[in-house]
Amino acid sequence: MKKTVLVSGGAGFIGSHVTVELSQAGYDVVIADNMSNCDDTNYKGVCAILGRKLPFENIDFCDAAAVSALFDKYTIDAVIHFAAYKAVGESVAEPLMYYKNNLGSFLNVLEASKNHGTHVLFSSSATVYGEPEKAPVTEESPRQPATSPYGNTKQMCEDFLRDCVKAYGMHGIALRYFNPIGAHPSALIGELPRGVPNNLVPFITQTAAGKRECLSIFGNDYPTPDGTCLRDYIDITDLAKAHVCAVTRMIENRMDEPYEIFNVGTGRPVSVLELVNAFEKVNNLKLNYRFAARRPGDVVGIWADPSLAERKLGWKAVRTVEETLASAWAWEKHLMEQALQDK
Ligand code: UDP
Repeated sequence: MKKTVLVSGGAGFIGSHVTVELSQAGYDVVIADNMSNCDDTNYKGVCAILGRKLPFENIDFCDAAAVSALFDKYTIDAVIHFAAYKAVGESVAEPLMYYKNNLGSFLNVLEASKNHGTHVLFSSSATVYGEPEKAPVTEESPRQPATSPYGNTKQMCEDFLRDCVKAYGMHGIALRYFNPIGAHPSALIGELPRGVPNNLVPFITQTAAGKRECLSIFGNDYPTPDGTCLRDYIDITDLAKAHVCAVTRMIENRMDEPYEIFNVGTGRPVSVLELVNAFEKVNNLKLNYRFAARRPGDVVGIWADPSLAERKLGWKAVRTVEETLASAWAWEKHLMEQALQDK
C-alpha cells in the first residue's frame, strides 16, 4: 500500500521541492500550509510538474485542534515539518513571534505524531554549528550557542524531537541543511523571497534581472583564499531527495537509532566570489556587484562532511554548482515572464 507523508509548509521553497520528489518516488503527499509567507505559485507549480492536483490543507500548525483533526482525517505515516518563520534578523527583533510560532507548531506536530504513531522528520540547519572550530563539520561537531532566536528554535526543536523519541518510543530524523539554492529543472517552482532577499542567490538572480541595482558582497577581508566567506551550497533538488531517503529509512524501519541526525550538504566549500563568478559564466552575463562591509553575525566558513548521509541514507549530492546556478536563473526568468503575462 502507498504510504502517506504530510508536508507542513509544503507550499514554500523547500517544501514544494520535497513534495515533488516524494510524489515521484511513489508516496502520497498531503500539503499543509497557512500561506503566511508565500502565495500559491509553488503549489500550482507542483501540480503542474506532477500533472495532478495534490491534497492541500490550509491550516496553522499553532492551532493544536486543527493539527489533531488533520492527523485524524488522513492516515499519515510520516510528517516532514517545514512550517516556520525563517528570517534571522526578524527573529532578533521579534523573538516572541518566533518562539511562539516555530516552537508551538512543532510541539503540536510532535503531540499528534505521538498519538498516531507517525514518524517525524525535522528540517534543521547548519546554523546549529555556529562558527565551527574546524570544517568540514560532522554530525558529532559541537553545537554552538545560537546567535539568534531563529537559530535557537532550530536547536530547541532538535531537542524536542530527541526527547519525545526517547520518552514515547517514536522515530525521528533531523536533517541539517547547509545552503539550499537553485530551483526545480522545470523552472515551475523555486524560491520566492518577500521584499529584499536576505540570501545570496535570490539577491544575485534579482540583480541580474534588474530588480536590484547591485549585489553587495559582505566582506572580502576574511581569512579565506579570496577573502570572502565559504559556504556549502546544496542544490534544492538534491536536498529534496535526501528527504525521500530519510522518510523511507524511517518507514522501512531501517534506522540504527530511533533518533538520527544527518548533514545535508555537498562537502565542497565555495566562496561568495566563486559563486558569483560561476553564476556569470554559466549564464553568460555580467553581474553588478561591489565589496561591502562584513555582515554582522556571518560565520567565516562552514561546510559539511556529508559522509554519514551517504553511508546510511544512500544519498549524495550530484548536481554541479553550475547546473544549480543555471536553474536559479531559469526560475528568475520564469518569474519575469509570468509578471509580463500578468500585466
Ligand atoms: N551574502 C552576500 N551578499 C548578500 C547576501 C549574502 O555577500 O546580499 C553572503 C553572506 O555574507 C554569506 C553568504 O553570502 O557569506 C551566504 O549568505 P546567505 O544569507 O545566503 O546564507 P547564510 O550562510 O548566511 O545562512
